[in-house]
Amino acid sequence: MATKSDHKNSPLIFEIDDVNGVYRFPVIQALNFSFEQIQKFDDQESPVPLFLELNLAAPCQMACQYCFTESATLLDRRKFKLRDVDLFALREKKITPLSVSEICDAMAQFSSMGGSVIFLCSEGEVLIRKKSCRQLALKAKELNLGLIIYTNMKVLDEEYATELHNLGVNLSCKLESLNPQINDQLIPGKTINHFYNYVNFSGVDIPEQLSMLLQVYEDDLSKLGLSTTLTNLNAPGILEVRKFAFEHGMQHMIKGLHFDGYANKNDILLKLDPNSLKKVESELEEFGSRYGYSCPRQDCAGEHQHAYDIRTWLNNRKSHSSGMFAKVITNQAGAFAEYKGNFVSVRDDQGIVNLSNMFKKLSQLGEHDI
Ligand code: SF4
Repeated sequence: MATKSDHKNSPLIFEIDDVNGVYRFPVIQALNFSFEQIQKFDDQESPVPLFLELNLAAPCQMACQYCFTESATLLDRRKFKLRDVDLFALREKKITPLSVSEICDAMAQFSSMGGSVIFLCSEGEVLIRKKSCRQLALKAKELNLGLIIYTNMKVLDEEYATELHNLGVNLSCKLESLNPQINDQLIPGKTINHFYNYVNFSGVDIPEQLSMLLQVYEDDLSKLGLSTTLTNLNAPGILEVRKFAFEHGMQHMIKGLHFDGYANKNDILLKLDPNSLKKVESELEEFGSRYGYSCPRQDCAGEHQHAYDIRTWLNNRKSHSSGMFAKVITNQAGAFAEYKGNFVSVRDDQGIVNLSNMFKKLSQLGEHDI
């Protein structure tokens, strides 16, 4: 039951009347689930999530201060314990990342089971693998699946962006601050050539790739989102990023820090004290309420209330025993989905991608929690 806000160019709003009350969240187009889709998800007997995160192995040209992925921590792998799973140990056991054809298979299985949206991400920068991304975007289009790609935008030029736009791809783009110095401080390039160039757009300086995307996606701005990781460095300007996003019809997602990898190493620089966090949250809430955004639940404040990330909201629906299935991640090793520290293989005993088997096993893990 999605409605458009009255604000000119404001993002799409996802609205639903749940057992807790009415939720109204800004949302990127691919996640703008209809009332019927949510109801089907609620009523389903076999546990199939509305969306699935799939991970395509790729390198990265940036070195974000808070990066916890394999890409940016590669050189320091002996110093840093990686989140969730020891990827290097898995490699030594020759457990390989999902190949493009395995991801295509997973997408086809997901679609045939009634899934709706794929979130394509990476332990690095997924768009670096242009040929694979084109192939996966084509597959998603053929299967009528929504596709969201998370990107630092660095490799995007007009031709590539136009191609992705024509294939219906939604993009969630990293932007840490409208202050280029802070943006560069948080997302430095691995070499001098990898830093962003900034251009003036509507009175603010933004990476040239974002300016180009705003033009390429001009008639489809609800397919663009900005993603900001909340740290001590960018907290004072985070409201400005959100205003910029909303005023241009984009969704804005805020991510919390995971203190692993570089985020762990840089924690003193990055960690936000509780009072500053409260201040940021109340500013964002006040700003969001001007657009009519609301969440009736207070018990998960700090999660989706400032994040406006509908994926988190779906995950946290306590009224729904299979809410955890709203997010299934396969990581760089490509072969596991995780639920509360337990890992379930995406491949079956014969080494074949088998999502039905994976969802069933995750379901069994979840049953112990209910
Ligand atoms: S863009 Fe992503 S993968 Fe690359 S360094 Fe930054 S956080 Fe890590």
